Amino acid sequence: MEKIKMDIPLVELDGDEMTRVIWKMIKEELLEPFIELKTEYYDLGLEKRDETNDRITVDSALAIKKYGVGVKCATITPNAQRVEEYYLKEMWKSPNGTIRAILDGTVFRAPIIVKNIKPFVRTWNKPITIARHAYGDVYKDVEYRVEGPGKAELVFTHQDGGASSQTLHEFKGSGVMLGMHNTDKSIKSFARACFNYAIDQKEDLWFATKDTISKTYDHTFKDIFQEIYEDEYKGAFEKAGLEYFYTLIDDAVARVVRSEGGFIWACKNYDGDVMSDMVATAFGSLAMMTSVLVSPDGCYEYEAAHGTVQRHYYRHLKGEETSTNSMATIFAWSGALRKRGELDKIRALEEFAGKLEAASIKTIEEGIMTKDLALLSEGENDKIVNTQDFLKAIRKNLEKST
Ligand code: NAP
Ligand code: MG
Repeated sequence: MEKIKMDIPLVELDGDEMTRVIWKMIKEELLEPFIELKTEYYDLGLEKRDETNDRITVDSALAIKKYGVGVKCATITPNAQRVEEYYLKEMWKSPNGTIRAILDGTVFRAPIIVKNIKPFVRTWNKPITIARHAYGDVYKDVEYRVEGPGKAELVFTHQDGGASSQTLHEFKGSGVMLGMHNTDKSIKSFARACFNYAIDQKEDLWFATKDTISKTYDHTFKDIFQEIYEDEYKGAFEKAGLEYFYTLIDDAVARVVRSEGGFIWACKNYDGDVMSDMVATAFGSLAMMTSVLVSPDGCYEYEAAHGTVQRHYYRHLKGEETSTNSMATIFAWSGALRKRGELDKIRALEEFAGKLEAASIKTIEEGIMTKDLALLSEGENDKIVNTQDFLKAIRKNLEKST
């Protein structure tokens, strides 16, 4: 069989620990035998980030901007313990944070659904995708501990002179306060990314905030979404038979739980953080959650939602057997290859992505799975396999379909 040829390279961001081990296995077992893989390789492993003073992370994000599609392995975000472990020059920032800041994107997270693992919510028979705004709010706040009585004020100094202020609270004793912000520019990007993604996925879009309480802050989010919908997307939504639906966040939570799934749920930064873990857990496992960062100018970065699976890696280093689930990382590759195929009009590449996903799902549905899933599975004759054998089983199914 002839291998599939690529035209424009995929930006490949390698990473750390167990996911780095899996990364190599996926390429050797599931990709290179079928595709003449063309990638521009960036090693985001912690040693290389340290060696390049983190320049490599910035370069990789710029490469995604240039070529349009990247695929990223999970990476260590260093803390004090990692600085010692790797003898780091500095506590380098989160690579995901750096990449998000350069691409200015929205993160979409969706579960991979298999028949023998039932979501905890019985009615969910289609995936729910969380679209998380990745800028501002409490993640860029300024906080203050009030130690005694006094007046707290919110002051805005205009660039061309003058200032406006309002009283936040007259403290009678100690307490806490914080200031946070967002920008119209970022909210607009967030809205467009969500509308585009909904059209791309042919799914309805839900958005929710607490605008009844936060009459300026959250209401601005609501208004910007509505305005952009009316002006730019209403026609395309109606043509595709899709719905844009706004409601209050507490009402949304109730509706989501009663729903059958199959829509995109746009969340403000904090809501998205909390709700994506809730949705991932309710669907079964973080190892079955895919993640893609979409920038307003149409760049895509695919990755797994989980981390580097450190505990499994230490076992692997000791020569012990591991049973690490590679599904989310496989789907990062298939997502990126499909997008590359779509953009470059390479049908065979798009089809291969579909076959790879189908072969992976089939393997689990046949009862061959890693330990994390076996705990959740409803099958009776499940076979728990190690990291490598899980990929070999997928390879067998893939060979049958290609
Ligand atoms: P983690 O790597 O997501 O793993 C936490 C636990 O979840 C594992 O110990 C394992 O449980 C289970 N798990 C996660 N993925 C799994 C998989 N594919 N297969 C089987 N089990 C899986 O989180 P962490 O251990 O807290 O973080 C490790 C490193 O990852 C940190 O340095 C952090 O900075 C980094 N991180 C990176 C990203 C990213 O690059 N996107 C995201 C989050 C964290 P058991 O041990 O019980 O089997
Ligand atoms: Mg979180």
